[in-house]
Amino acid sequence: MTAFIGLGTMGRLMARNLARAGHVVTGFDVLPTAGAEGVARATTLAQAVAGQDIVITMLPDTPDVEAVAAELESQLPPGTLWLEMSTIAPAAAQRLHARMAERGVGVLDAPVSGGPQGADRAALSIMVGGEDVDFTRAQPVLAVLGTTITHMGGPGAGQATKVCNQVMCGLNLQAVCEALALGRAAGLDLARLREVLLGGSAASWMLERLGPAMIKGDVAAGFRIDLMLKDLRLAGETARELSVPLPGTALVTTQYLEARAHGEGANGNQALFRVYDRMAGRG
Ligand code: NAD
Repeated sequence: MTAFIGLGTMGRLMARNLARAGHVVTGFDVLPTAGAEGVARATTLAQAVAGQDIVITMLPDTPDVEAVAAELESQLPPGTLWLEMSTIAPAAAQRLHARMAERGVGVLDAPVSGGPQGADRAALSIMVGGEDVDFTRAQPVLAVLGTTITHMGGPGAGQATKVCNQVMCGLNLQAVCEALALGRAAGLDLARLREVLLGGSAASWMLERLGPAMIKGDVAAGFRIDLMLKDLRLAGETARELSVPLPGTALVTTQYLEARAHGEGANGNQALFRVYDRMAGRG
């Protein structure tokens, strides 16, 4: 029996997949209209978690997870397993592990990569931090949600991995934007440019999955600019804590901030291309 908290872009697909695989899932979201196919909707957080063995959270940011933790602390009985699958600060994930361990609640930080398409196809990459015993116990759930499930180490290791993932995503998308901006100025057909680049060593997930929307000027959100800015902030904070210079991440963060300042925060990640439009005087 599983509670799924946060039925947004990713959560509603992940909760649906668990229900389709035969898990009994109760869902909760602060948004009364949010729901997932095959998932019973609780009206309160307390109702959602009552009597469940496993609790999954898929929430926007660290403060959202901490707010839920404050409420759940007194409600989860010892022996409960909490799979925290949102992308949050590695240090916050470690605090959550320690806080819940005192109550006998096991926690895994298990953020994901693959976007709504990966969630839809149950093909997420899941990066896990926590104890071996909890990782083993979580297998039946994680195996339904993803295809690459990797135990990276102790508490916080999953989130540290996700930070690395997001550094690469931001810089890969920036590289795609630059190549397409240059190709357009050179009079190339961008669809053909994308095809030929995908056949060689410049191929990337960003070019493959987001390239078509960028070329069409479609900025509908799968992964919002605001969420990417949150992840780049986590990368910046982690890098400062560890004294690691990340100059590329600093530059792409500035470009995402420019996008948000132009009202693009709720648009999809691919709207980063419009920063290049504006720099070229096309915006
Ligand atoms: P989202 O904003 O679409 O969904 C989050 C949901 O949580 C919303 O429905 C919101 O109402 C709900 N919520 C917020 N606070 C709550 C609370 N206290 N109690 C219950 N529900 C609450 O976000 P998303 O795109 O589904 O992303 C969720 C997490 O997954 C984020 O941390 C994001 O960075 C990460 N992620 C997203 C993607 C993507 O492509 N969208 C990919 C990988 C990882």
